[in-house]
Amino acid sequence: MLDELYQQVILDHYRSPRGRGHLANPTLKGEGANPLCGDEVVLELLLEGDRIIDLRFDGKGCSISQASASMLVESLKGKTVAEAEATFEQVMKLLRGEVEPDPATMGDFCALAGVRKFPVRVKCAALPWHALEEALKQL
Ligand code: ZN
Repeated sequence: MLDELYQQVILDHYRSPRGRGHLANPTLKGEGANPLCGDEVVLELLLEGDRIIDLRFDGKGCSISQASASMLVESLKGKTVAEAEATFEQVMKLLRGEVEPDPATMGDFCALAGVRKFPVRVKCAALPWHALEEALKQL
């Protein structure tokens, strides 16, 4: 039942991605590729001070990678860089199975926990987050 619900969350993000596209003048850019699956994600961030005031992603690939990118964009808009890094850590722990999904604090990210049983899919889900990490490293 829960798995089915999570599937729907992923398909919803895949079919109606939040923030797909490009920014006119991004402050930071990060890219990630997962050759095993053919996933590609480009992430663009617009910063004002230490706050991410806008962000977009573009890319192609499987539903997991693109849904994960959509969730990233939706969750980080308006967050500070420190908050974005904390979210990154939390999602990585979730994907590694170090924390259990908690809908109260993780929202849609819980759906990503379903990939933990499939190591190849973990790479798909983590891809946009590695693009974020790469972008934030330029700070
Ligand atoms: Zn993939």
